[in-house]
Amino acid sequence: MKSSEMFNPTLREVPSEAEIVSHQLLLRGGFIRKTSGGVYSYLPLAFRVLKKIMNIVREEMDRAGGQELLMPIIQPAELWQESGRWDVYGDEMFRLKDRHNRPFALGPTHEEIITTLVNQDVHSYRDIPLLLYQIQNKYRDEIRPRFGLMRGREFIMKDLYSFDMDEEGLDISYKKMYEAYNRIFQRLDLKYRVVEADSGAIGGNESHEFMVLADTGEAEIIYCDNCNYAANVEKAECWVDKLSEDKNALKPLEKVYTPGVRTVEHLMQELNLPVHTIAKTLIYWADGQYIGAVVRGDREVNEVKLKNLLGCNDLVIAEASQVCEALGVSVGSLGPVGAEFKVYADLEIQQMKNFVCGANEDAYHLINVNLGRDFVPEMVADLRNAVKGDRCPVCESMVNTIRGIEVGHIFKLGTKYSQAMKATCLDNNGQERPFVMGCYGIGISRTMAAAVEQNSDEDGIIWPIPIAPYQVIIVPVNAKKNEQMDAALSLYEQLVEKGLEVILDDRDERAGVKFKDADLTGIPVRITIGPKALQDNKVEIKKRWEKEPVLTPIDEAVAKTEDILNLKK
Ligand code: ATP
Ligand code: MG
Repeated sequence: MKSSEMFNPTLREVPSEAEIVSHQLLLRGGFIRKTSGGVYSYLPLAFRVLKKIMNIVREEMDRAGGQELLMPIIQPAELWQESGRWDVYGDEMFRLKDRHNRPFALGPTHEEIITTLVNQDVHSYRDIPLLLYQIQNKYRDEIRPRFGLMRGREFIMKDLYSFDMDEEGLDISYKKMYEAYNRIFQRLDLKYRVVEADSGAIGGNESHEFMVLADTGEAEIIYCDNCNYAANVEKAECWVDKLSEDKNALKPLEKVYTPGVRTVEHLMQELNLPVHTIAKTLIYWADGQYIGAVVRGDREVNEVKLKNLLGCNDLVIAEASQVCEALGVSVGSLGPVGAEFKVYADLEIQQMKNFVCGANEDAYHLINVNLGRDFVPEMVADLRNAVKGDRCPVCESMVNTIRGIEVGHIFKLGTKYSQAMKATCLDNNGQERPFVMGCYGIGISRTMAAAVEQNSDEDGIIWPIPIAPYQVIIVPVNAKKNEQMDAALSLYEQLVEKGLEVILDDRDERAGVKFKDADLTGIPVRITIGPKALQDNKVEIKKRWEKEPVLTPIDEAVAKTEDILNLKK
């Protein structure tokens, strides 16, 4: 392809709306353009990358026994009503009506459609297992679409659904997908980590996320180098010491005057106490009632754990003003002792002796508080986020944290959908049984962004070779000089003949401009044809991830390029 004929509008300036590197570089490199918040066009270079990602995903899905199909994006409300999700999916679902006023949704996911589809035509265990997948646009009206393709409202997903007769069958399907996903991210040449993930309030089901490692990732991963444990912080269990039996140390409860103290920091200063002696109480609005979560002063409440514990649909942190009105105390003075709301205490609170907390009375705190003696919570459970330095829940070594971008998610659904939608199959005893299902997603467009987030430098993108939009760019320093253009064209023909994907930058631009664009768009191999080297029948070959080019005899250029492209970085 000649640069002069390409639709590849690069930008010199960093677009102001783009906060993270991948968003900036995909815009600047002429890969994507925004149509509306979270909705993008993929320009030709981006579409080439996406097709390569999709091909690798397809090959691995097929190899694992998957069959590709394509289901509708427009989904009738009845199916979602049957599964019970029409009312609970909430504002993230794009809803629309047809001319007869019948409600539909733009598919955010396809459990309802595929369960119905399979139930219509699959009646016997002989047709099981089934692994069906598609690659298509998904629609989610995210609260905060951001970071370009990372969190779009329209995005490309591969979603596979497995149908088995029983848990053992599901285990096998799940394992196949787990292995296929590992092959995919290895083939994409991305640094990634598989982590245990939260599987929601359904409980008991297995789930893993595939995280591309990057500092800007939205997800925090807790991992242990000693035993290989890794989990999303939403899921990561917190290790706690055994309870000490020593009850003698309990001191008498006291109320202290703390006017104007509203934060943990302020309380520490005022009473001259370290943070681990303070318990804070956060009030949540949970399915129509206030509840209090009590954690150590420097800990974060893990809302996923709390939600799972409560088994509720809606959980939001309560507004300070509303809490004050409803409970008659300002938030800084709330506490578990004598509380008018249900109290859920983190495991660590059980460990803490003689701690400090709000007195449920403005301008007062209690000191020497002890769980059990002074209050009995509804439940004591693991409610906080794990942090660096915590003990590993498996081997008790110290854990570390790292950030990642969730690019894939695999999930054992069990019979959640098949039961709700009465999707059954006859087993080998002629018994009707609900399908045992799994679902397995990969964010294709998010993976492209994650690849950029992980692979760039100050000059632009450094595409992993397997997904680079083109593999080679040939840059004649002066496209008006016949001998340079002739050499460039001849090299171009030879490389294309070898099956390589090549750009010829034939534009009448300064060399510096062309080099900048080549770096920005991240093409792995750049071959520069300049007047001096050409006199000696040489060209410069530069790998995108190295600073300096290497002078190479022109008749070795093709072999050298092939070498580089076959080599893993
Ligand atoms: P997240 O927690 O990031 O919202 P999710 O758990 O909602 O993700 P799934 O429903 O498991 O995501 O979807 C499967 C995959 O689709 C995710 O692993 C991710 O790669 C991708 N994905 C999900 N939401 C988006 C989005 N808004 N934009 C781009 N990709 C997305
Ligand atoms: Mg989501």
